[in-house]
Amino acid sequence: MTALSYFCKMKLLDGKLSSQAVKDDLIVQVKELKQNGKRPPHLACILVGNNGASETYVASKVKNCAEVGFQSTLIRYNDEISEEELLIAINKLNNDEAVDGILVQLPLPKQISEQKVIESISPTKDVDGFHPINAGKLVQGFPTFIPATPYGMILMFEYFDIDTKGKNAVVIGRSNIVGRPMSVLLSGNYKYGNCTVTICHSHTKNLEEICSKADILVTAIGNPGMIKANMIKQGAVVIDVGITRVEDATALRGFRIKGDVDFDDVATKASALTPVPGGVGLMTIAGLLKNTMYAYLHKDQ
Ligand code: NAD
Repeated sequence: MTALSYFCKMKLLDGKLSSQAVKDDLIVQVKELKQNGKRPPHLACILVGNNGASETYVASKVKNCAEVGFQSTLIRYNDEISEEELLIAINKLNNDEAVDGILVQLPLPKQISEQKVIESISPTKDVDGFHPINAGKLVQGFPTFIPATPYGMILMFEYFDIDTKGKNAVVIGRSNIVGRPMSVLLSGNYKYGNCTVTICHSHTKNLEEICSKADILVTAIGNPGMIKANMIKQGAVVIDVGITRVEDATALRGFRIKGDVDFDDVATKASALTPVPGGVGLMTIAGLLKNTMYAYLHKDQ
């Protein structure tokens, strides 16, 4: 807890605590599988090119798989790979009995259609939950893979026992990987759902006014520090999904990671707030690990 959050009596939604709880459960499950003579879940990650942020994300996914006892395979291609070659590689993984989950790190180089890649992954191994079949199931409330970031946020609500029932939730951002599925989950008839949801985007008028009525505000924009205290209802729960690299010559790597929320300002009004880094990013990995276990357990269905 930072000095400021202590002073403000604001609850820091620390992703280290909530993600470790998810990982501890998975470690127990993997131990049981091994005791019963079964192999652990296996995640295959495809990384195309040398994008710095993608390298970091994939390395973290591989490291976290090892931490919970999953097998993982990292398959790398240079950024000149053709779409056809990549689709063939995915098809091989689709047909590999020893692989439970397939993740293709986005973004991809221009010559490759991301949508074609998403649709080429078997819906039963789609641990990112981006395949239209799984997105459709999510909207209709059927069990399926939930995109890792929204899933991670729901797991965080569960860990910190955040009451969502009947609350006004505002989700800023309508992407297929964060904002839209999060709005679906929060509006669904689930323990950590049942909110009245407003979804905002780049064409929303009066963003400030809409946000200031939110009991729960989820922001997934990618504009560092844009969300200030004047946009927040007193006592709101604020979840910051934004991750932007901001140049900083004093930082070791020459940049810092910033969220959408002006943390110190919003901390004076929010009742609970996620830090960046150390919040939703860690829970996204937790969501991915849970999805990989789900793929393993449901592979014959
Ligand atoms: P995106 O670019 O697809 O979506 C951004 C959304 O913000 C769009 O829907 C757009 O309409 C909306 N937007 C832009 N300007 C706005 C404005 N002025 N007012 C209201 N809405 C506005 O991005 P994305 O993939 O959904 O990611 C959003 C952010 O979350 C990025 O910073 C990304 O890096 C981060 N992210 C973090 C995680 C994590 O694990 N923490 C995972 C995925 C994405």
